[in-house]
Amino acid sequence: MYFSAENHRIPLSDGNSIPIIGLGTYSEPKSTPKGNCAASVKVAIDIGYRHFDGAYIYQNEHEVGEAIREKIAEGKVRREDIFYCGKLWATRHVPEMVRPTLEKTLKVLQLDYVDLYIIEIPMAFKPGDEAYPRDENGKWLYHKSNLCATWEVECHPYFTQPKLLKFCQQHDIVIIAYSPLGTSRNPTWVNLSSPPLLEDALLNSLGKKYNKTAAQVVLRFNIQRGVVVIPKSFTPERIKENFQIFDFSFTEKEMKDIEALNKNVRFVELLMWSDHPEYPFHDEY
Ligand code: NDP
Repeated sequence: MYFSAENHRIPLSDGNSIPIIGLGTYSEPKSTPKGNCAASVKVAIDIGYRHFDGAYIYQNEHEVGEAIREKIAEGKVRREDIFYCGKLWATRHVPEMVRPTLEKTLKVLQLDYVDLYIIEIPMAFKPGDEAYPRDENGKWLYHKSNLCATWEVECHPYFTQPKLLKFCQQHDIVIIAYSPLGTSRNPTWVNLSSPPLLEDALLNSLGKKYNKTAAQVVLRFNIQRGVVVIPKSFTPERIKENFQIFDFSFTEKEMKDIEALNKNVRFVELLMWSDHPEYPFHDEY
């Protein structure tokens, strides 16, 4: 499939389509200045991004909504041009809670609908308003839920997920790769013993060859395999840089070389919840 900056949507079997690159919007709430998220979403829309990945738990969903609404009011985009993905947090898995929680997200966004609503993590916590519930001894309060599947998949050259990708392609399932740049390496939830992806020698030498950065190389690698990427940046130059991936392509040999970098390194291991009965990463995929 050929993708360009203007036309990069993957058709879905229900008649809808998903842009192959989206802007990730998770940023540590305490250290991110108010307004940064809205400003970044607006910059991204001007650059050509049409897909935004957000969540109620990120505490900036109202800014994403505000930015989208402003750009619609300006006449820059229509609502139907935008693909927004929202997420159901772990304390809201009880079936009766799903609809009111989605409605809350719509109220926060001040939009009529989201394009995709996914289960944020496949492990339920004690239902209620406390986002990260613990008991008086600091022990996590888990909850049993009835999940059969979750579709979120970390994916990048150190974690290429060949088996999962093949399975999904055989069944016409589109993969969305979170943390496609190898995360922000926040020590509270990222396994920092893993090597920094963007410092990889091969990725940088390929970048040199094509006059691109390592970030552009890893994003191009995934979109060239048909995997949707949602790199997060609140830095205007990087938001732009991450979108400039439609004007070059790798040879088959280069794609194979990048695939060979796979180290099965999962940056987002969520080890603090590894004793949860539904902890997803004990399984092969
Ligand atoms: P990414 O792999 O997207 O990396 C983000 C980090 O890379 C930020 O620190 C950003 O800094 C930096 N960065 C962005 N562009 C460049 C560039 N061109 N060169 C160098 N550094 C760059 O990590 P995320 O974990 O944020 O994943 C992306 C999105 O996926 C999330 O924001 C969220 O929407 C979604 N997601 C993530 C999950 C997770 O557990 N990690 C789970 C579910 C969803 P800066 O902003 O300062 O430019």
